[in-house]
Parts: sequence; structure tokens; C-alpha cells
Amino acid sequence: MVASLKARGYIRSPEVERAMSIVPRHLFLPADVRGEAYSDTPLSIGEGQTISAPHMVAMMAEALELRPGHKVLEIGTGSGYNAAVMAEVVGKEGSTITIERHASLAEKARIALREAGYDNVSVMTGDGSIGHEEGAPYDRIAVTCGAPSIPRPLMDQLKDGGLLVIPVGGLSYQSLLRVRKMGQNISTEDLGSVVFVPLLGEKGHRPSDQVR
Ligand code: SAM
Repeated sequence: MVASLKARGYIRSPEVERAMSIVPRHLFLPADVRGEAYSDTPLSIGEGQTISAPHMVAMMAEALELRPGHKVLEIGTGSGYNAAVMAEVVGKEGSTITIERHASLAEKARIALREAGYDNVSVMTGDGSIGHEEGAPYDRIAVTCGAPSIPRPLMDQLKDGGLLVIPVGGLSYQSLLRVRKMGQNISTEDLGSVVFVPLLGEKGHRPSDQVR
């Protein structure tokens, strides 16, 4: 899997290559899809949600320019796999807080993260569209669900010089944006079209928008 992601240009740094070689993706999956753990595909994890395809995890990790010691916030824990990859890069001196709106997924992610040995990840249950003020400011924020626009609380909770990576757009597809905060200046880069499940909540889509 890692060799293919590298050959296709999704993995570009030794840090992300190392993390994705180490984190056991199968531990984060329900038993019925474990056989496909190392295929480059999103998979069902319950509650109508998915674990992102490995190439998307690699793309986001590279875009975030993660470094050892970073404090990271993730919105959309899902299986916990992406949080584990980020935790592996930021190391023991770094930390990751991840928020999931489905309590059942949050609990499964906690168990998988513990089993995989990631005690530098805290899994919270709640509405991540408003971020997590108590842990702010963050060096990096990763949103792994599609938002209608960039939630203001996430920008407020980002450190000066920090990076936010977030899919923004409609329910069918979004643009993956990398947002850099430099004092009062915000620069935004479009990294291409992506398809994520929606960010629901106060600063996200309303559940009634989801007519498919
Ligand atoms: N990062 C995940 C992984 O590694 O498995 C994949 C995330 S999945 C594509 C998106 C997740 O975002 C879903 O589990 C969904 O329930 C969650 N989500 C959607 N809106 C949310 C919100 N407002 N707060 C927290 N989680 C949310």
C-alpha cells in the first residue's frame, strides 16, 4: 500500500511514509471489511460513515506539514485511523485531540487507538464544527468531513502560523483547502476536488440537507 502511494505521489515525505508503514489500518476496521484494510479504498465503519481511502489520509498528512511536537485537532474521528497516522508523525512530544459526533464510533476509535498504542490521542464526542476551545490554540487542524464553509471557530482556534486542511463545498463533492493563518492574513490554496461525508452541526450542514 505504502509503496503504491509513494509511486503515485501521494506520500512525499519520510515522516508520512514512516507513519503509514507503522499504523496497522486493519485494527481500525470492523471485522467484515478487515480483509480490504490495505487496499486504497474508503470502507464502511458503521453509522453510515467511512474510513477515508489511504491516498486521502496521505494527501492530508502531507498538506498539513506535520512536525514532531505539534498539537493537532481533528474533526471527524471516524475509525481513528487518520488520528493515529497524525499521532505517529507528531510523536510522544506532540498531541492529537479528535472529535466525533457519533458516540458509538468514538468508543470504537478509543479502543482501536489503545490497542494500537496511541495514548497521545484524546477522542471526544460532540460537535466538532465549533472546534474544541479548551485545547486551543492548535498548530494544525484537520477536518475529515465536508463543510459548507470554513467554520470561524476553527480559524480562531488555530495558532498564528498554523495550518488548517478542510474539504469545503456541497454535499456531492468539495475542494480540499489548505488555509494558512499569518496574523490577520489568511491564505487559501485549493488542493483539488474530493468527496467526503458531510460535516454536520452548528457550523456545518444541517442533517435535513442530506437528501440523497
Ligand atoms: N478520519 C476518519 C478516519 O480516519 O476513519 C474518517 C472520517 S469520516 C470520512 C467523517 C467523520 O466525520 C464521520 O465519522 C462523521 O460522523 C464525522 N462528523 C461529521 N460531522 C461531525 C461533527 N460536526 N463533529 C464531529 N464529527 C463529525
